[in-house]
Amino acid sequence: MEQHAEMTIGGVAAPAEESFPVTNPATGELVGHAPRCSDRQLDEAMRAAAAAQPDWSADVPARARHLLEAAQALSAAARPIGETITGEQGKPLPMAVGEVYAAVAALRYYARLELTDEVVRDDRRARVVLTRRPHGVVAAVTPWNFPVATAVGKIAPALRAGNTVVLKPSPFTPLSTLRVGAVLREVLPPGVLNVVAGPASLGAAMVAHDTPRMVSFTGSAATGREVGARAGADLKRITLELGGNDPAILLDDVDPAAVADRLFWDAFANSGQACLLIKRLYVHESRYADVVAALAEVARGARMGDGMVPGTQMGPISTRPQFERVCRLVAAARRSGAVAVAGGTPSTGPGLFYPPTILADARDGMAVVDEEQFGPVLPVIPYRDEREAVRRANATQFGLGGSVWSADPERAGRLAAGLECGTVWVNGHAELSPGQPFGGLKFSGIGVENGRLGLHEYTGVQVRYRRHPAP
Ligand code: NAD
Repeated sequence: MEQHAEMTIGGVAAPAEESFPVTNPATGELVGHAPRCSDRQLDEAMRAAAAAQPDWSADVPARARHLLEAAQALSAAARPIGETITGEQGKPLPMAVGEVYAAVAALRYYARLELTDEVVRDDRRARVVLTRRPHGVVAAVTPWNFPVATAVGKIAPALRAGNTVVLKPSPFTPLSTLRVGAVLREVLPPGVLNVVAGPASLGAAMVAHDTPRMVSFTGSAATGREVGARAGADLKRITLELGGNDPAILLDDVDPAAVADRLFWDAFANSGQACLLIKRLYVHESRYADVVAALAEVARGARMGDGMVPGTQMGPISTRPQFERVCRLVAAARRSGAVAVAGGTPSTGPGLFYPPTILADARDGMAVVDEEQFGPVLPVIPYRDEREAVRRANATQFGLGGSVWSADPERAGRLAAGLECGTVWVNGHAELSPGQPFGGLKFSGIGVENGRLGLHEYTGVQVRYRRHPAP
């Protein structure tokens, strides 16, 4: 049955005059139609957010209560919203429902986190306190790989800090986020959260709009540069969570059999479509053949299929442009001498299925190594000297995450500290939690999400200087 979802503007459902189709990447079938926000509706959403903001920011305890109610309402809708995620994005249903619960956890986390003042001077002359003020209206724009978790990861801290929000999901996966808007408009005051839908041009119009004082963007580095430049023209505040090309370095003391399963899923979860998965694997030459063989075995055993089928571990690639990009990158790497020891050719349609692919004999300089492949492909690259491996891992414009794996965590930790990225893991990768700030260095972004620092991004500092009366 065709799914239907409306935008949320000013606390009510906002039907649109035009719509666009959303397809299921596992079947090629139509999932439903999403409304296309008009210019007039974008203005309405911005006006509603601006009108709601003063009252919303004035009552701090009410904000916390509302976020807890939002968590409760979203939790109750986790299963149907999870089904919508699987339908339009492709991930296995348990993962999709888990994504909704991750969003619930973010709402609860921020509901309980207080913005606290900081006294920076208190002497005979004066008391100086730093306090935090919301920016006002936040324009939020999100990608297609984790539509609900990414959206709520912005909504929760933005609202907690006293801002109001106009949010646009990716046109590939708009329905689940629109449904989140529909659930939350039942518990939030009108105008506090507005969810609109449309193509890239709508995102650009939001970033350029006069009303928002902040832009919170998650997406590719190429779009992030455009967003940053446009927002900068108006001196809007920004957080940019952009792409990654995360390296993992395996030292010469790892046991390939012991780490293969974890390594595999740290690269292939969500069919490789997450910013902070392992995208390049550097393996010491003494372990290289064993690691490649162990990973190939895990890859061959992974169950790929429609995310609605129980037991599926990997869904399709979510979008046709992304599918075609992965096909191109693997074919080019193979032409340059890489060997696909598992996978390597796309499955025949109708879905956008590409089997998990382990590329041995991969080298720096191949596009699949140098660029963010964002799909179910892992190039495995041998190295001889571990400092050389760190240098090569850092030889990229990206700086999101990185990891070092070893039987000796101290040794691994020392090397990991030399990686130029926002998060480094030892003997793991891609592990996040609500209290753990997450952001990229270099071209992977500006600012952080999650944790107290993530909340601070949605505020500006106000210095309150009070001079004591003369004695
Ligand atoms: P994308 O940059 O193409 O699109 C992201 C969003 O921006 C979409 O909603 C799109 O409609 C909108 N958009 C496009 N052009 C715009 C413009 N000029 N102005 C304003 N908005 C515009 O990214 P994508 O293909 O949807 O997502 C995949 C990318 O997202 C990958 O590079 C991935 O690494 C990155 N990502 C990063 C994080 C992170 O936290 N660092 C998390 C998830 C995904």
